[in-house]
Amino acid sequence: MLFNFQLSTPAEGMVNITPEVKEAIKESGVMEGFCVVYCPHTTAAITINENADPDVQVDFLKGMRDAFPDSDKFAHAEGNSDAHLKSSSVGASEFIIVTGGQLLLGQWQGIYFCEFDGPRNRKFYVKVMGG
Ligand code: ZN
Repeated sequence: MLFNFQLSTPAEGMVNITPEVKEAIKESGVMEGFCVVYCPHTTAAITINENADPDVQVDFLKGMRDAFPDSDKFAHAEGNSDAHLKSSSVGASEFIIVTGGQLLLGQWQGIYFCEFDGPRNRKFYVKVMGG
């Protein structure tokens, strides 16, 4: 089953979408299988990271800015090449095991929609498969 979600993002940020993914798993009725969380955008990304200390998300974004600084040398006229680099670096999707009708996440893991060039209206998909 395919589920789609919409969200409004900040200029830059990591939005915890774990509750939406859990909702999709529950609604699918799949007890054993997999899910793919996918974002169809070129300046955003999906990742799994710590959900306990919010400073991790602050540091993640700071680290990405340091790793991929904006530059006058970029050719892309839209002026957001740093966000495109961050998007491909983090990746457009995550693949997660479903068991016992639950996401198989570690205690400290959450699923995040990463915005690198907001604010925008964004969407993401959750595909749940039994197997
Ligand atoms: Zn662009």
